[in-house]
Amino acid sequence: MLSIRSTFRSQLRLSSVTLSSLCYSSSSAAAIQAEKTIKDGPRNDWTRQEIKEVYDSPLLDLLFHGAQVHRYAHNFREVQQCTLLSIKTGGCSEDCSYCPQSSRYNTGLKAQRLMTKETVIEAAKRAKEAGSTRFCMGAAWRDTIGRKTNFNQILDYVKEIRGMGMEVCCTLGMLEKQQAAELKKAGLTAYNHNLDTSREYYPNIITTRSYDERLETLEHVREAGISVCSGGIIGLGEAEEDRVGLLHTLATLPTHPESVPINALVAVKGTPLQEQKPVEIWEMIRMIGSARIVMPKAMVRLSAGRVSFSMAEQALCFLAGANSIFTGEKLLTTPNNDYDADQLMFKVLGLIPKAPSFSADEEKACACEAERCQEAVSSSSG
Ligand code: SF4
Repeated sequence: MLSIRSTFRSQLRLSSVTLSSLCYSSSSAAAIQAEKTIKDGPRNDWTRQEIKEVYDSPLLDLLFHGAQVHRYAHNFREVQQCTLLSIKTGGCSEDCSYCPQSSRYNTGLKAQRLMTKETVIEAAKRAKEAGSTRFCMGAAWRDTIGRKTNFNQILDYVKEIRGMGMEVCCTLGMLEKQQAAELKKAGLTAYNHNLDTSREYYPNIITTRSYDERLETLEHVREAGISVCSGGIIGLGEAEEDRVGLLHTLATLPTHPESVPINALVAVKGTPLQEQKPVEIWEMIRMIGSARIVMPKAMVRLSAGRVSFSMAEQALCFLAGANSIFTGEKLLTTPNNDYDADQLMFKVLGLIPKAPSFSADEEKACACEAERCQEAVSSSSG
């Protein structure tokens, strides 16, 4: 925290003149809070009212100040490319209203068992070759308790993919403390578990597990030393107040999530939310700009729904503070952007792929692993 703060401060000193001259004509909450964020660094004591005021700022002001915070906290040209693969599809016991993988809805999706190691590793290799630095594996389960064999297989996949020099992420439903520790030991970089929406609106979307259970999983992930990836979905029929509520919960966690995916609902026929209107780009920009100002260091991911936005619309999202995307043919079960279109977008917008980053602990574990391998090779060849 201290080093982030001092970096922010020194950056501010370098450009305080520029900053004050840029802000002289705006007194929106976005302008005020962006300036505070740049000066003091991330904070976890946001009131819901403060976040609401940021969120309600005039849109272009929010976009501008989101961009400003983004440039202080990140290399604004770098965009993380993550590939998400559904390694176990459909047949899920939960009732998440937006999800075609729930066995409660008739969406025509064919349930599939856990993929073999060979298939998963092949997909990870392809993702790496296509420029992805993070490989995420998703399994449609409530949790992994009582699935010892499957869980052990996944630990093996994690080890293998981490050994390929990629960041590895999983989204497997709720996690217990011990499982989080095992995933960490296997080399997992991040665990995704979205809060979806505000605590108040949540029961309208899911009834089979509680908001507190979700927060508990995030706690286990954090305690195990794994990066937390948690965000939500807009377009579920929630009010703007619920979007503010979601941001407030995330921004007041003891440590902000390292990744915050912002999804636009992809309404799938057969789910209870099939009639929802598509999310407008302005709603995405408002959500991304607000997330950027209140959680400056997080990777804000422009996630599901990106396929329906033009390159110009996506450019506005990157400008507002998004710096991560999912690449690959599919996002679990829904369509995603075309590989060539993404390559072209990077070229036209001057974006560059973000290199993978590993914590010192992970690097050390990897070096030890490499050393052990070396020893094994030498002793077997000797
Ligand atoms: S979102 Fe996850 S937990 Fe909910 S129904 Fe879909 S696969 Fe199951």
